[in-house]
Amino acid sequence: MTIYRRHWPIKDKLLERIVKSNTGCWLWQAAKDICGYGRIWYNNRNSSAHSVSYLEFKGPIPKGNQVLHTCDTPSCINPDHLWLGTHRDNMEDKAKKKRYPKKDKKTGRFMEKA
Ligand SMILES: [Zn+2]
Repeated sequence: MTIYRRHWPIKDKLLERIVKSNTGCWLWQAAKDICGYGRIWYNNRNSSAHSVSYLEFKGPIPKGNQVLHTCDTPSCINPDHLWLGTHRDNMEDKAKKKRYPKKDKKTGRFMEKA
């Protein structure tokens, strides 16, 4: 006789831990990390809630890609506010939105005389 372990749908787990804001964000109410990203136990791993939301509602995340927010709200897990990008996209996106001090590798480096 096989033991059938009832699997609690992960989507329900996600949806019961959020509060929808008037901006359409799904704000994670459970555990968060120091950056404000939601954490959830998923596939035996402590995972980011927004990544799990992307996986569950939209599909697989290709290797080398990250799940990024269009709304800049780390605790938001609304799949409609999530997009896939590379680490580089993330940095460029952050630089655009938050206007981090510009650092140009080319001009920030002393040129060696030939
Ligand atoms: Zn959002």
